[in-house]
Amino acid sequence: MDIEAALRNRGKERADVEERRRAAEAYTGASLEAVASYPFDPKAAATNVENMIGVIQVPLGYAGPVLIDGDHAKGSFLVPMATTEGALVASVSRGMSVITAAGGARAKVLSDAMTRAPVLRVDGVDHAQRVIDWISENTEAIDAEVSKTTSHGQLMEIETFPAGRDLHLRMSYRTGDAMGMNMCTIASEAVCRLICQNTGAVLVSVSGNMCTDKKPASINAIRGRGKTVVAEVRIPKALVEEKLHCTAALMAEVNTRKNLIGSAMAGSMGCNAHAANMVAAVYIATGQDPAQVVEGSLTLTTCEVDGEDLYMAVRMPAVEVGTVGGGTRLPAQAEALNLIGCGGEGKARKLAEVVAVTVLAGELSTIGAQAAGHLGKAHSQLGR
Ligand code: NAP
Repeated sequence: MDIEAALRNRGKERADVEERRRAAEAYTGASLEAVASYPFDPKAAATNVENMIGVIQVPLGYAGPVLIDGDHAKGSFLVPMATTEGALVASVSRGMSVITAAGGARAKVLSDAMTRAPVLRVDGVDHAQRVIDWISENTEAIDAEVSKTTSHGQLMEIETFPAGRDLHLRMSYRTGDAMGMNMCTIASEAVCRLICQNTGAVLVSVSGNMCTDKKPASINAIRGRGKTVVAEVRIPKALVEEKLHCTAALMAEVNTRKNLIGSAMAGSMGCNAHAANMVAAVYIATGQDPAQVVEGSLTLTTCEVDGEDLYMAVRMPAVEVGTVGGGTRLPAQAEALNLIGCGGEGKARKLAEVVAVTVLAGELSTIGAQAAGHLGKAHSQLGR
């Protein structure tokens, strides 16, 4: 097989991957020796990547243990984090040790719905209204269409947003233990076909960007996407002083001036110190879609003095995670999920709570380090 043919080879056997890798080496002159080393059958990644030539390895550590009192995550957890940022895991572990010494973090999933938002073309506002009326009068037929495409997905709501000759539909689904983007997209296409056949509207795109997937958007920050989760902790004064080397008042001041006022002045949609750091590391470790770190970064961190103690919380409006489907079935990622007891069915909300507490721990440690003036020191000792 020549180079062009080898690069086009779509086989999923190890021999096919090897041949494609060698062709890529020959084509570019780059050595791909390190990516060739991986312990699983490439067929395991058959639905995760095309043109596979190997595996990129990201170092994996664990943060914790951390004590969690969630509605779904209960007990002590070692949280897998895949990262190349030195000091991150140490910092999160420090936050977790404070949370655990304080008696643990409370975590709660407040809502759970994945969205897809197609855009239809209509003739004008009266046609838009007729389509909206048809949708509200035909919910049973729409639900039946959804159930032809998925056994776990369930349509909860269709919100309608007409604008000129656009009709945007924001469809919210229960997706069981899957993150749900493929599920919602396939179901939404089927629903739109039905709507268009019956109303004369035209489907322009199954994603009209009001979903909003993988882009920072106020609609997700306000309405939520995937799981909306809150995690909170109350830390006694003595622990703040002993373990974080500062006071609750100083932490609250840093949080207000930095995460609230600074973020407002910058026009940032995320009002947090570095939520994306924890989200990215846990998502990569557990086979989530790393592009959805964007929505994880919408986190709001709050911090206040409670008596003499410290109260801290994170509100994460869009934790888009699954424990089945997507990258969760890859062997290493499945092991990482098992490390937190989140492999398979019935575990997606538990995973969302673990993510939120991990973000809380990272926020606590970083705000504490900045309040105590230690941030640069920790990075220079551990990260370089
Ligand atoms: P998926 O792997 O495409 O679908 C999940 C599958 O798991 C379905 O076949 C579902 O069956 C099955 N399933 C078995 N047990 C389940 C349970 N307990 N709960 C829920 N489902 C269960 O995964 P997905 O979550 O829908 O999509 C995630 C993938 O979409 C990721 O790879 C992500 O990168 C990608 N993605 C796609 C888009 C897009 O626009 N298509 C956008 C962003 C990301 P039933 O459906 O029959 O119930």
